[in-house]
Amino acid sequence: MLFDQTILRIPGPTPIPPSVERAMNAPMVGHRSSETSDLIRAIQPKLQPIFGTNQDVVILAGSGTAALEAAVVNAVRPLDEVLVIVTGAFGARFVDICMAYGIRVHQLQVAWGKAIDPKEVIGFLEHHKEISAVFATYCETSTGVLNPVEELAKAIRSVSDGLFIVDGVSCVGGVPAKMDEWGIDLLVTGSQKALMLPAGLAFVAMSNRALKRIQANPNRGFYFDLIKYRTNLENNTTPFTPALSLLFGLEQALNLIEQEGLENVYRRHSLLMDMTRSAFHALQIPLLTSDEDASPTVTAVRPVDFDAEEFRKVLKQEFRMSIAGGQGHLKGDIFRIGHMGYCSPADVLQTIGLVEIALVKVGKPIELGKGVAAAQRIYLERGMK
Ligand SMILES: *Cc1c(COP(=O)(O)O)cnc(C)c1O
Repeated sequence: MLFDQTILRIPGPTPIPPSVERAMNAPMVGHRSSETSDLIRAIQPKLQPIFGTNQDVVILAGSGTAALEAAVVNAVRPLDEVLVIVTGAFGARFVDICMAYGIRVHQLQVAWGKAIDPKEVIGFLEHHKEISAVFATYCETSTGVLNPVEELAKAIRSVSDGLFIVDGVSCVGGVPAKMDEWGIDLLVTGSQKALMLPAGLAFVAMSNRALKRIQANPNRGFYFDLIKYRTNLENNTTPFTPALSLLFGLEQALNLIEQEGLENVYRRHSLLMDMTRSAFHALQIPLLTSDEDASPTVTAVRPVDFDAEEFRKVLKQEFRMSIAGGQGHLKGDIFRIGHMGYCSPADVLQTIGLVEIALVKVGKPIELGKGVAAAQRIYLERGMK
């Protein structure tokens, strides 16, 4: 066994490209130096297309939850009434953050493993004109569902003046996000998922509507005050010391995305999803989500005749490969395979090959190679440039 080798196939943190690792090792610079300003200036135009916005994207030092909390503190006030669409563990996190700030929360609960139907949201908002913001999760990482945020944005806008706030932590950079065109007001993400970096950067992009609402909010907190960050960005600087090494890495990660081409990045993620799903279909192991609701960044599998936790243990012990378990009430019932960021069709074939060995080891009768062959066929049909 190679003790220095690990295979990380969880839905974040994700593997780091070697060139990004090298970039992060660059010598430290002053946070008020021209080098830092140049870096911030270079990053913005590469970041904006990933959010689909012409607005400057605020970068905070913090994990993805910092971006979620910043969105809540700035865009909503205590005693405001909001709607949170809960399709899994991360929708529930928005509820918890809002509660922590004394915000009055309504919830639309969707069965875990399914996407929200925008019609349900319209139905709710028609009877709740007081709602000042609607929260949704783009990719619900706990179930592998991709919620239809474009349709949701249109639906919300047709009946409500509320802001539309989207958690895109586990998919922005891996799936299309056109916040300006679709009408998303706040779109947030973190660095350690599709953006191929370690945890530590939190991103918040805001529409003009959101900016106005935030400016009018007198209590935006201190560290998370997004107006401070936006004002500083106009001068290519930040209110507090940025996580500089991560920014070095971010610039290189964005270069890689630019080099591949954003559309090709999205196509690759969709191919990785289809290869992964076809393998489990071929092995006749049920998936948690339907093909229509599935996210290109993570796949949740729901075994019926073998133990998910024992299966994960075999992969870890035999190959030092990590896949994720279930969260909340799905703990022990599902496992999740991440295929976002620095992940290629070759990686998926490796994953499926190892999955098949682990299946045999936990006593699941399968025909070796069946999953791999299905994924190979998808690759050959769809290919990649
Ligand atoms: C990973 C993730 C987060 C943020 O988690 P952190 O541990 O704070 O980085 C938030 N939302 C979703 C959908 C996620 O997948």
